[in-house]
Amino acid sequence: MQKVSELYRGKAKTVFVTDDPSKLILEFRNDTSAFDGEKIEQLDRKGEVNNKFNHYIMQKLEQADIPTQVEELLNDNESLVKKLDMIPVECVIRNYAAGSLCRRLGVEEGSELNPPTFEFFLKNDALHDPMINESHCLSFGWATESQISEMKVLTFKVNQVLSQLFSKGGMLLVDFKLEFGVDAQGNIVLGDEFTPDGCRLWDKETKKKLDKDRFRQGLGSVVESYIEVANRIGLAL
Ligand code: ADP
Ligand code: UDP
Repeated sequence: MQKVSELYRGKAKTVFVTDDPSKLILEFRNDTSAFDGEKIEQLDRKGEVNNKFNHYIMQKLEQADIPTQVEELLNDNESLVKKLDMIPVECVIRNYAAGSLCRRLGVEEGSELNPPTFEFFLKNDALHDPMINESHCLSFGWATESQISEMKVLTFKVNQVLSQLFSKGGMLLVDFKLEFGVDAQGNIVLGDEFTPDGCRLWDKETKKKLDKDRFRQGLGSVVESYIEVANRIGLAL
């Protein structure tokens, strides 16, 4: 398998075409961005940590029968993945209130959400990723009825598997974002990444933030916290 050319350079990852038309290489860079790219910094080892973290989580999800893009960890910063036709929506589940939910609805950070909430956001930086609903997905052709229900079922399944995994490591999975795509056979498959860049994780006892909020809020020790999370769930980094 050979890297052929750059397909897309995002805020945190670069996507490369390979000589196999069904596979892509994701390169995880040290770039860390927040507030729609307004705040950007290079954090030492972040690319490596997120690449290995993502591969580990995707393997755990595969073991739980969740279809993912995972193929192979190639090196410190790169992974081979299935090429997907990405659906331009973000699927968010929240187990506790935080972030934009608190700003939008005036709820207190940390309130438990029972049952957890599910939200769709449109992947569009220029529009600041607005919240959308299922009707918007259908009317604008972003996803079909069956894709919507499949994404919801899979996101709740991911929540179940990962809430348990992080709980064993003494953490609360507060919320997270997933992106899905369609493979060559038309199946819905989990793509992009699951790393502390795209979820919130708090220490169960102290409620210390161990995720990208450390970067958003200037709390320091960002990559150190990601490494601590990895170590607590059995991935030595
Ligand atoms: P952004 O586009 O938000 O700046 P990234 O820097 O993470 O984000 O860029 C990665 C891009 O690659 C995203 O647009 C994502 O949708 C896309 N992508 C992720 N996984 C796959 C995949 N398996 N197949 C095709 N595209 C993917
Ligand atoms: N999220 C993400 N990418 C986005 C928007 C959100 O990974 O473009 C993640 C975010 O890290 C959090 C969850 O989705 O774990 C919910 O984010 P929220 O809506 O609270 O937005 P934010 O606090 O980033 O404004």
